[in-house]
Amino acid sequence: MNIMEVNANPRNRCYRCLLEEIDPVSYERDIRRILDMMRPGEKVHENLYQMRLDTCRQCEYLNNGTCTACGCYVELRAAGLQSRCPYKNW
Ligand code: SF4
Repeated sequence: MNIMEVNANPRNRCYRCLLEEIDPVSYERDIRRILDMMRPGEKVHENLYQMRLDTCRQCEYLNNGTCTACGCYVELRAAGLQSRCPYKNW
């Protein structure tokens, strides 16, 4: 099952969860792999990354691991050193 199939199934909907929590297999294959390919200079420190994700978990725009304000998977967007929350929450 890929991310699109996970999101298409209403039983998988979790409005305050990240993809890692919804579907660990897809997370490892599709998100973790990209995070691991990012160079150290492109990524924020792990502590800041987790703080950003904690903020997203409490945000009304998080839907099934996706930020509905920007359309990104928050687990990818939050990792980028140059990335910003579209609503300046981080
Ligand atoms: S990136 Fe910003 S707007 Fe999007 S879910 Fe996270 S905190 Fe909310």
